[in-house]
Amino acid sequence: MKNKYSFIILGTGISSLSMAHWLSQKYPNDSILLADIHEKFYGASSKNAGFLTVGSFHFFNKMAQEKGLSTATELLQFCQTNHDLLFNAGFLDDSVEYKKDGSYTVTSSAPNMSQEFFKKIPAPIAIKGHEFCHHYALDGSCHPQKLLNKIFKSLSVDLVENAKISFDLKNLTINDQTLAYDKLFVTTNAWLNQILPTPLVSPQRAQILKTKPTRDFILKGNFYFSDHLIYLRQNKAGQIIVGGLRTLDAETEATDQLGTNTKIQNALLQFVKDRLSKNLELAEAWSGIMGFTENHLPCAGQYQESSTYFMGGFSGHGMGMAFHLAKRLVDSLENPNALPKLFTLS
Ligand SMILES: Cc1cc2nc3c(=O)[nH]c(=O)nc-3n(C[C@H](O)[C@H](O)[C@H](O)COP(=O)(O)OP(=O)(O)OC[C@H]3O[C@@H](n4cnc5c(N)ncnc54)[C@H](O)[C@@H]3O)c2cc1C
Repeated sequence: MKNKYSFIILGTGISSLSMAHWLSQKYPNDSILLADIHEKFYGASSKNAGFLTVGSFHFFNKMAQEKGLSTATELLQFCQTNHDLLFNAGFLDDSVEYKKDGSYTVTSSAPNMSQEFFKKIPAPIAIKGHEFCHHYALDGSCHPQKLLNKIFKSLSVDLVENAKISFDLKNLTINDQTLAYDKLFVTTNAWLNQILPTPLVSPQRAQILKTKPTRDFILKGNFYFSDHLIYLRQNKAGQIIVGGLRTLDAETEATDQLGTNTKIQNALLQFVKDRLSKNLELAEAWSGIMGFTENHLPCAGQYQESSTYFMGGFSGHGMGMAFHLAKRLVDSLENPNALPKLFTLS
């Protein structure tokens, strides 16, 4: 570690790697340090389901109802561009188990969706006589740890893991060494408020599990069961990855500490046994910590006209948004209008 860097980035998740990527693209001669208080990739970015998602239609429909059609449409396009930027940068290929099989939002009743918003999307298909399914062909998935590794390996940066970090909004010390820098980026998502008092991000845990491989069926695509708040997909090895049901024990899950929740884990396993095959067996269960903002959207910007910048508040769509938002934050260093108003605090 040197004692001066052009850019110091706190965190090592998809947000931090995306920041490092776009900073390197724009300022190739500048130096970058990534520093994390845990081992690299400790956060939700390595623990998620790997949906490179624009999200369920339930989510966008809710956004359309709460924030209006133009906001929901902007959000949908923002996520789609995130996918395209990752793909065009060469990060989505076989080496990260990338698949573009689309996604399905399954609901128990024909969704009451605005014709204008969904005019490009085929009408829901009735399945099993009592469920409806929206198919969105452009969605994809990947192996999240492999994606992180691929982005990380493409970077020319210094890294400090398991670091002792202190920052009082003026001085930054890492492992007792005071560091000078031109710009500091705080991209620690759920742990944003441990460094910057605002914007307000609250940590929330989410449960996820993986079954043993099955050859009983092949499931193509990402599935959102909107009524149940459950999402699942099958990976390359034939394992079902299923997560969700946070609200089943919301109080316990309002934490920044990792840990499996038996009640939620059992319900997730039961769901895939009931829905897909009673032969499915648990292989691994784990959790991850996300960051929630009040309006459920991530936020980014300059912190109080200082040389500190932040990006965080990614809940269930960080893989579907962070790469694009990091680009816009880097662009905003020279052009303040580059950052979409949707993600700013004002
Ligand atoms: C179970 C689960 C499933 C999910 N599934 C999906 C999905 O399929 N698709 C999707 O798009 N999203 C999904 N998400 C959400 C997604 O994983 C997150 O939105 C995204 O990973 C957030 O990335 P990040 O880089 O901002 O934060 P993180 O990956 O959490 O990284 C934050 C990093 O900051 C570090 N840190 C903390 N404090 C400090 C400090 N003081 N100094 C330095 N470093 C610090 C942490 O150690 C951590 O490494 C899921 C989340 C969970 C938990």
